[in-house]
Amino acid sequence: MELFKPVNLQSDSKIADTEHVEKVRCLIIGSGPAGYTAAIYAARANLKPVLYTGLQMGGQLTTTTDVENYPGYPEGITGPEMMEDFKKQAVKFGTDIRFGIATNADFSGNRHRITFDENKIVEADAVIIATGATARYLGLEAEKKYAGMGVSACATCDGFFYKKKDVAVVGGGDTAAEEATYLAGMCNKVYMIVRRNVLRASKAMQEKIKNKPNIEILWEHQAIDLYGENGVEGMILVKKKGTPQEEIIKMKIDGFFLAIGHTPNSDVFKKFLETDEAGYIKTLPGTSKTNIAGIFAAGDVQDPHYRQAVTAAGSGCIAAIDAERYLSELH
Ligand code: FAD
Ligand code: NAP
Repeated sequence: MELFKPVNLQSDSKIADTEHVEKVRCLIIGSGPAGYTAAIYAARANLKPVLYTGLQMGGQLTTTTDVENYPGYPEGITGPEMMEDFKKQAVKFGTDIRFGIATNADFSGNRHRITFDENKIVEADAVIIATGATARYLGLEAEKKYAGMGVSACATCDGFFYKKKDVAVVGGGDTAAEEATYLAGMCNKVYMIVRRNVLRASKAMQEKIKNKPNIEILWEHQAIDLYGENGVEGMILVKKKGTPQEEIIKMKIDGFFLAIGHTPNSDVFKKFLETDEAGYIKTLPGTSKTNIAGIFAAGDVQDPHYRQAVTAAGSGCIAAIDAERYLSELH
């Protein structure tokens, strides 16, 4: 599974004029918890949804092992199994699931046009965008090697597996501060690896860190490698890189958490949809409605705050209900 390279999307190339345009009522883009949940609701509402999976069929959860916080699975379940269940349920009610990547969008008319794989055009009355967000990684080979074996980009998801252990959090922003504070509540020791000598995090978040005696900030440190036999056992850091005091440090840890930001997968739609500075699609609070009638957004692509499977699924449900109401007024 490609974790590190985002799909190369075009945001400004022109959609080719063609007679071969497929018309659908409800189009869903993305096959994570948000997309499949939207599909289940849309199919049951007889909207005959067509869902394009994107490159990562099943979404982010297919890159993890155990999911223990999704309601309904008291024994936990693996991410890939859970997403297979989501898919089966969407298929059961008649969702037309196809492989394809949205490479261009034109929301300038009443019917909305999306191009898949640069050649297939679908025109839809209602579109639900559920393309998720991609956690940023440092780009180390070791991050791939130990993915799911000590490397994580989600403390809320995986912190539980590191109870009473030593972990590191990379980053100095609000997310890193939040993740470090969360982990400090259950881990023995939390190292924050901060590349500069200041935190980007807000003063309020900095106060929270100060109040946790088991958080230690490693100022002007950068992680350059990880080691371990069957999982992460430690990390290699460089301190004060590029200065006369430069030093290589080896430290034992059990878990390595990335918190250097997320990139919402919204590039292809940005020409038409309002986003925040980071690229998250803006929705009318409490709804999935975007600035364009008939275009709805659900899941991580519109959620800079929670980014959980259950919140993504919930917003997929909201989007399908919003789409159903929109379509019933349209015809
Ligand atoms: P995603 O799951 O990101 O799915 C996005 C979908 O959009 C994918 O199918 C992708 O192929 C598709 N897509 C993207 N771009 C395009 C395009 N241009 N055209 C077509 N399709 C496109 N949350 C929890 O609640 N519990 C956990 O234990 C947990 N563990 C996690 C572990 C890891 C390693 C990670 C990375 C995340 C974890 N999360 C967990 C977070 C959770 O996975 C996300 O919040 C959730 O998957 C978001 O769902 P989504 O449907 O919005 O998007
Ligand atoms: P962010 O503010 O962009 O911070 C990213 C952090 O990661 C920065 O400290 C940055 O270092 C560091 N970083 C980036 N690339 C790195 C690399 N290659 N190597 C080492 N360090 C690297 O991202 P965020 O923390 O995810 O926050 C995103 C937005 O959400 C912000 O607006 C934030 O305020 C908001 N947010 C708010 C809350 C809250 O209010 N509770 C919680 C979470 C997020 P530099 O500082 O050196 O650039």
